Amino acid sequence: MAYSSTQLFINGKWRPGQSGRTIAVLNPATEETIGTVAHADRADLDEALDAAAKGFKVWRAVAPFDRCKIMRKAAAIMRERNDEIAPLLTMEQGKTLAEAKMEAMAAADVIEWFAEEAKRAYGRVIPARGPGIYQIAIKEPVGPVAAFTPWNFPINQVVRKISAGLAAGCSIIVKAPEETPASPAQLIRAFVDAGVPDGVLNLVYGVPAEISEYLIPHPVIRKISFTGSTVVGKQLSALAGLHMKRATMELGGHAPAIVFNDADVSSAAKILAAAKYRNAGQVCISPTRMLVQDDVFREFVDKFVEGARMMKVGNGMDPDSKMGSLANPRRVNAIEDMVQDAIGKGAKLETGGKRVGNKGYFFEPTVVSDVPKNARAMNEEPFGPLALISRFSTFDEVAEEANRLPYGLASYAFTSSTKTATAIGAVIESGMVSINSFGLALPEVPFGGVKDSGYGSEGGTEAMDGYFNTKFITQTGV
Ligand code: NAD
Repeated sequence: MAYSSTQLFINGKWRPGQSGRTIAVLNPATEETIGTVAHADRADLDEALDAAAKGFKVWRAVAPFDRCKIMRKAAAIMRERNDEIAPLLTMEQGKTLAEAKMEAMAAADVIEWFAEEAKRAYGRVIPARGPGIYQIAIKEPVGPVAAFTPWNFPINQVVRKISAGLAAGCSIIVKAPEETPASPAQLIRAFVDAGVPDGVLNLVYGVPAEISEYLIPHPVIRKISFTGSTVVGKQLSALAGLHMKRATMELGGHAPAIVFNDADVSSAAKILAAAKYRNAGQVCISPTRMLVQDDVFREFVDKFVEGARMMKVGNGMDPDSKMGSLANPRRVNAIEDMVQDAIGKGAKLETGGKRVGNKGYFFEPTVVSDVPKNARAMNEEPFGPLALISRFSTFDEVAEEANRLPYGLASYAFTSSTKTATAIGAVIESGMVSINSFGLALPEVPFGGVKDSGYGSEGGTEAMDGYFNTKFITQTGV
């Protein structure tokens, strides 16, 4: 399977950047250069802005019923091309081919779900205070959108933004990740081949800060959507605020996963280990702080470690691999440092803890237990295959620990008591709570955080709301 180099897509044309500059793309499993991605400069961005402004006029006039038809066709194309797209994703990102296939397939579900929502963008009729008066609130597309997406789920992070935006009637400029450019480009190609008109969807790559600093203040752009780290999210939302732009921010997390004494411990350990090492832990909703009640602590650790050891690490293209490489050397260095720091502060290494081999960004599925609260990993998002397991005694103690950090994205709890389940669901400060399962991230359910994890939603009808303005019209005497 050959890896393809990626071009910009502006105003209905695939083309190199005007300067001819490119950025190398590496395979994180081999550290070899496998291709390049075109680099957009100011002139390319101006063209994309012009195209998005014109594309918006065209697309908002397309009836929701017809938008839906085009989008459903894009979903069908994604399914047909799964075997072609998934290897590109594995080669540039490192995840296993099975995970890549799931990501590309799930994209089709996301597109279809939002396509159907296009038809249901209902407004309201508000009862008037007198005869002959009509008061209506309608939903209008917010305008051209600038979307910035990261490398951990190169297709999934783009498809959520594109699908909700297109369903609402917006045009979009996507700044996709330079490290993993080919798979999101295939997603754009599916929409284009399905019949999305020129200018409606535009794809650029380059220097992320240069692009965001130019697009966000630009008068053509009416909304931004960013997925990535909290640090960058705060910078971009400050810029958006300065220019009065709507924003959706899907940022980092540090999910508590609470296991109470009365939980099914085997099931909790199995579910959490699988969730923890998915995509080598580079997942914003990954369960990161396992908080386990005293009586079942040892049993849980042993079972979780068993799950970690079953994760065969290897090149994602090898069908035997259960966990691929990390996406870039930054994550390997960060995880190595966090493990050393935790052990230095008194944590116990239960398994893993080291890089695998000296070629490719592989890291062992790692478990550390009894990690002190001042360890770096207990405070910074690990974003890698590092599981932290700590013990607690009382409900109040674990509720305090769960809410200790500024993050508030996902959280998990395992218990057989309805009373405990209800109580923990109510007390946790996070945008999503999954009890006795890993039940997050379906297209039809809300997806988003609170506190430093951001605002807005990337799933469910709430995601559509981010791409609409409400217009109120009152009409009398006709
Ligand atoms: P980073 O914070 O520099 O980049 C994160 C993402 O934001 C990348 O896709 C990058 O291209 C983009 N970005 C960075 N600066 C930008 C700017 N000024 N304007 C627009 N886009 C910009 O660092 P990183 O090493 O790529 O990732 C580090 C951390 O980011 C991870 O540890 C994790 O905490 C977080 N992250 C979160 C998600 C998520 O799904 N929420 C995804 C990727 C990374």
